[in-house]
This record gives sequence, C-alpha cells and structure tokens, in this order.
Amino acid sequence: MGFDDSVLICDEVDPVLNKILEDNGLKVSYEPKITPDQIKEKISNFNIVIVRSRTTLTKEMIEKADKCKIIARVGVGLDNVDQVAAKEKNIRVINAAEGAMNAVAELVLGFMLSLARQTTRGDRAIRNGQWLKNELKGTELRGKYLGIVGLGNIGKRLGRLARALNMNIIGYDVVPIDEEFAKEVGLMKADLDTLLQSSDYISLHVPLLDSTYHLINAQKLSTMKKTAKIINTSRGGVIDEDALYEAIKSGNLGGAALDVFEKEPAIGNKLAELDNVILTPHIGAQTKEAQSLAANIIGEKIIQILRGVI
Ligand code: NAD
Repeated sequence: MGFDDSVLICDEVDPVLNKILEDNGLKVSYEPKITPDQIKEKISNFNIVIVRSRTTLTKEMIEKADKCKIIARVGVGLDNVDQVAAKEKNIRVINAAEGAMNAVAELVLGFMLSLARQTTRGDRAIRNGQWLKNELKGTELRGKYLGIVGLGNIGKRLGRLARALNMNIIGYDVVPIDEEFAKEVGLMKADLDTLLQSSDYISLHVPLLDSTYHLINAQKLSTMKKTAKIINTSRGGVIDEDALYEAIKSGNLGGAALDVFEKEPAIGNKLAELDNVILTPHIGAQTKEAQSLAANIIGEKIIQILRGVI
C-alpha cells in the first residue's frame, strides 16, 4: 500500500532515504540548501519534515507547520528541533539513535590509540622538520583501565571494541547497566568518583542535560590519575574546558581528545595550544556507513508510523 504524504527534506541526506520514501508513494521535495525564510514560507505544505544537522527547526517554523505529522532528524541528538513546539502541534518527533554508535565508538578507539602513541604529535613534528623518535615513547592499551561514563548505544559499542583490545572496562550510568552486556565484556560497575580515580582512559557518552553540564569539572579532574586521558565525543558542555586546559597544562592530567565543544566551530579554542590534546570538528557520526544507516532507520520508521505499526 502506498502513501501520498508530502515530505520536505531540508538537509543533505543519504539518497537511500529518498528511495525508501518514494518507493512507498510519498512525494519528496529534496531541498538541501533551503534557507530558514524559505522553510517558514513552505512548511505548511508538508506532512513530514526531515532535517540532519544544518537546519534548526525553530518554534516560529513549527507553529506554521499545520499539516505536519512527523519531524525526523537523521541523526542522534534532537538539539536542532524545538520539541516543545512540536508537542504543542501534536507532531511526532523521531531520530535515528542507533545510526552513529559504531562510527562514534571507532572514533574513540582511534583517539585512544593516538593518545597512547602520540601519533598526531609525531606527525606535526615531522611537518615542522623535527624527528621526535626518542621523545615519543608511548604506552599500549592492552591491560589499561577504560572508564565509560554512560552505557547507552555508543558506550556499549565502545565497551565491546575495547574489550577486543584486552582493556579492562569500568562502567558508570545513572540507570541500571544491562547485565548481559556487563558479563560479556567483564564490566566492573562503579560510581563516578571511583571510575574517575581508577581509569587510564575515560570516555564520556552521556547526553547534555542540566545534570551533565560540567559533569567533569576542576574538582573531578583533580581526582584523576596524572597520566589519565579523557575523551569527549558526547556533547560540548559535559566537560568544563577551562578546567581541562588548566589540568593538562599544569601536568595534572595526561591528555585529552575532544570531538565536541561548548562553542562550535571551535576555531581559536585554547586547548589547541597543548601538544597532548587531539581536537576534531564534530565528526563522530561523519562516516558513509553511519549516514546511510541513519537514513535507512529514518525511512523505515516513517513508513512504520504511517502504517500505524509504531
Ligand atoms: P544513549 O541515550 O543511548 O545513552 C546515553 C546514556 O547516558 C544512557 O544510558 C543514560 O542513562 C546515560 N546517562 C544519562 N545521564 C547520565 C549521567 N549523569 N551519568 C551517567 N550516565 C548518564 O545515547 P548515545 O546514542 O549512546 O549517545 C551518547 C552521546 O553521544 C549523546 O550526547 C549524543 O548526543 C552524542 N553523540 C555524538 C556524536 C558525535 O558526532 N560526536 C554522534 C552521535 C551521538
């Protein structure tokens, strides 16, 4: 059975999404360069509106979306959709929470390996005519303690990957941790303070909420091992960046890798002054596979909602 709903896609998304929707009879307007003013003008014509990261669907836009039944984000967070406005209009808001889990977990693995062997520092040095062979004596991940804060989709995937490297996994979450998973990776459950004190690597996988804002602050950083390294691929704001800068600069922390920042784009961020820090421009979900998986998940969810299955 086909549907005749009209869909506005506001950002660049994997073509598989168009295909799934059109194969099911939906009329798709693919407008990856549409401006906020154009969205305000047109949004009332559509039953379904889809965004990725470029477009923010504001209250003002959503209030005009009189025919809209579904707003979909082809990604994990819903920071760029005014969910209160959507609820008031009775619009269902969906995302593709599972789409990025492997991409982000692999990025964390790469960060840990780079921090352990200082590959980014060695690369920078060669480009500047320096051969730092003697200075760059690294460490191995095998046998080290990895503390994972937040054991949802990404945290769990990371636990499985790190276990394959023979790391010891410590986990903390505010909700009970899945027992089967804990058994599979030999996870040691701990409270946050114990995890921070005991880990060689700490990776954050929590949402940004009032309760997680600056979850890692100067006091928490001061309890960590001087050699410990912290990785944030969750959301800027979960770590206090000023406190992190001071901890690393003063030698009280071993290093950090950040993919997300309080202010993005993070051009001019002072953490870039520090050698044992790796910074990337929010690329956690930026893989072909993750984009395609997210597009597939959203396409299937929309069809299932229209069929009344979910
Ligand atoms: P998820 O919802 O599956 O898991 C989050 C986990 O954090 C849950 O188990 C939750 O109980 C736990 N949690 C919440 N508050 C906590 C707290 N105070 N202390 C400890 N645990 C807490 O989410 P996910 O899909 O695994 O994503 C995790 C984070 O990664 C999110 O912030 C998401 O926005 C971010 N993310 C970033 C990128 C990127 O491009 N870097 C891509 C995808 C997701």
